[in-house]
Amino acid sequence: MQPWFLVRSRALSDRTVRVLVVEDEKKIASFIRKGLEAAGFAVDVCHNGDEGYELAVTRPYDVVVLDIMLPGRDGLSILRNIRERKIPLPIILLTARTEPNERVEGLNLGADDYLTKPFFIEELVARIHAVTRRSTGASQSVLAVGDLSMDLLTREVRRGGRRIDLTPREFALLECLMRAPGRVLTRVQLLERVWGYNFDPGTNIVDVYVQRVRAKVDRDSDAKLIETIRGVGYRIKTSE
Ligand code: CA
Repeated sequence: MQPWFLVRSRALSDRTVRVLVVEDEKKIASFIRKGLEAAGFAVDVCHNGDEGYELAVTRPYDVVVLDIMLPGRDGLSILRNIRERKIPLPIILLTARTEPNERVEGLNLGADDYLTKPFFIEELVARIHAVTRRSTGASQSVLAVGDLSMDLLTREVRRGGRRIDLTPREFALLECLMRAPGRVLTRVQLLERVWGYNFDPGTNIVDVYVQRVRAKVDRDSDAKLIETIRGVGYRIKTSE
């Protein structure tokens, strides 16, 4: 039996990333929440700048996704206030395409990254992984299922010893499946997480991409990892 502190330290290092989203446009906020929760993050949303600041400085978040134009305190003031208090909390700004100065000012004030609206949810997921890895120095950069491995930093994918070349979209799709081994992901979840759609475009794009990824991943192996759950979606098998 393992001593309790070993069990505990493993639980801590594998723990869920906690994200605070401060965004007053409720539709965008709920789209972000759904996308981030589907990617496995624990998400709190707030629609007001003053509340957002209070939450950010009093609760143990791993990262804040911060809109700039907000009721109450605006995003840049929140950022400035947090940095004045020397709180080393990663912050990703959501900026408007029409305001390039916001980005420069935001980065000068100590933002870790920014995304220009509108954006694909997969981009935000990738930025969150990047800034939280940077801040914790965590080593969770390789995903593995069976003999399939994916290095999120070098973007190298291997099955056994064989190198697999994927397009960025195929990579994002396989990453989603590998982040949820054994769990079924629906077409709607994959559309949200890989394509950033919060609606069903009525195409078979997910199925087409899954076939492509499957052809590359499972082609030369007896053990087929990518499984179709008819009428529901797809999952990656944890063991054959
Ligand atoms: Ca806003």
